[in-house]
Amino acid sequence: MDFHLDTLLNLPDTTVESCLRQEQQVVMKLRFLLEKGNCPGCQQLSEDLHQNRPVLVRDLPVFGQPVQLQVPRRQFYCRPCQRYFTESLRFVDWERRYTQRYEDYIYQRVQAASIEQVSREENLSWDQVQGIFKHKFAQQKNQTGGQ
Ligand SMILES: [Zn+2]
Repeated sequence: MDFHLDTLLNLPDTTVESCLRQEQQVVMKLRFLLEKGNCPGCQQLSEDLHQNRPVLVRDLPVFGQPVQLQVPRRQFYCRPCQRYFTESLRFVDWERRYTQRYEDYIYQRVQAASIEQVSREENLSWDQVQGIFKHKFAQQKNQTGGQ
């Protein structure tokens, strides 16, 4: 909706519906521009939206303020497969509550500092920081191992 915010957000086929400050953080409500989901079973697009339960996803800070994105979590029905599927997001790994770019950032920060320090500075728990680090570490190991 807001051209300038969309430019700042810089995520594919995504627009910012609203942006507000809540408990010392910036909350951006997102909407996807494509009203279709890609079925993981047959790779066909479905327009048959069954439900949408948005989730909060942590993203990189803007102007020094922590950011939470309210991301649509859409479930579609695929007629050929006769089943429901939840679409996968291009900028958030499956079942994660952080954007990929935020997880990359935390992974690098931990390597330069420590889990304790990053946890304090990002206002995340020690377990959350360690969880991100483990997730990224496993991902990179799989990427190099698979080649
Ligand atoms: Zn299908």
